[in-house]
Amino acid sequence: MIVVMAVGASEAEILGVKSQILAEGMSPYDHAGAERVVIAVVGDVAGQKQVLASRLAAMPGVESVTPISRPFKLTSREFHPEDTVIRVRDAVIGDGSLTVMAGPCAIESREQLLETAELVAARGATFVRGGAFKPRTSPYAFQGLGVEALRYLAEAGELTGLPVITEVMEPNQVDIVAEYADVLQIGARNMQNFSLLQAVGRVARPVMLKRGFMATVEELLMAAEYIVSAGNPNVILCERGIRTFETYTRNTLDLSAIPLLHHLTHLPVIVDPSHATGKRYLVKPLAIGGIAVGADGVMVEVHPLPEEALSDAEQQLTFDEFSSLMAAIVPVHDHVRGLHGDPLPAGTTIGGGAAGGTLARH
Ligand code: PEP
Ligand code: MN
Repeated sequence: MIVVMAVGASEAEILGVKSQILAEGMSPYDHAGAERVVIAVVGDVAGQKQVLASRLAAMPGVESVTPISRPFKLTSREFHPEDTVIRVRDAVIGDGSLTVMAGPCAIESREQLLETAELVAARGATFVRGGAFKPRTSPYAFQGLGVEALRYLAEAGELTGLPVITEVMEPNQVDIVAEYADVLQIGARNMQNFSLLQAVGRVARPVMLKRGFMATVEELLMAAEYIVSAGNPNVILCERGIRTFETYTRNTLDLSAIPLLHHLTHLPVIVDPSHATGKRYLVKPLAIGGIAVGADGVMVEVHPLPEEALSDAEQQLTFDEFSSLMAAIVPVHDHVRGLHGDPLPAGTTIGGGAAGGTLARH
């Protein structure tokens, strides 16, 4: 449930409500909106909902107590109506700007990464990506260069001035990955690795959580809830395709999940057309599609010589293909910006002019 504090409620009143929630064996999470503070009551409230709601409603400074209808609470729009905006170094995600995370599937050498990083930065990428620890289906396939690759990644960040993102596969790798990377990625195969989710919930680094290929949207949001409830509010979601009966594509990109997620949650959403399709020639059209339906950005794999790549050779873009993708998605993003919000109610005026703007996009 959410406790909505009155406009102007005092610090002492807010503290009083939080202490009462703790005394009832629940956890309070407050969120200061533009006008008022709302406090989510999280925990196993089931049996005592009514009693707790009326007790809290009677406290000084409380305006109302309302249930959160979704099983995910802190990640829901009901608790946090405004979009979450995440700042990483000079990059901003979720503020309406276009985020582009690009780089090789796996970091194979210092030269391969730095050459790619410089190119994608010059073409407008806002993050450099690259795998150091690779979750491979086969135990005999290239597993990544590990810590050595993390060092190259940090160097790529310094060289380009861009923040860097890489995958962390195990709870005991979280600290070392957080030492080198600006954003921690949880891969599709680990979306429900709950101890890993809790571990990244405890570090001061944003986390990009990729949707598992067998996961529903609700399961994705419940996984994000693990991270946020552990103390890390900076979660980015990534739609990267789900497994269906189709075999021509590696996965099926669930485009509808993007506006659906924007409706259900305040967290930013990135689209990954590389892992979604597994085919180089499908990456650009689906990047265009993802941006058109409102994604906050894309993650794509780029390699100096894709056919020689040690992993995901068929889906990595050449430098020219990446340039062409950028030339396509930038105008699409400019065009759809602002089209995704709810229309303003009839008769509303903005700045004295006629109606026609949009509100937040849910
Ligand atoms: C990746 O982005 O490097 C990756 C392995 O993707 P996914 O977890 O979506 O398969
Ligand atoms: Mn890959």
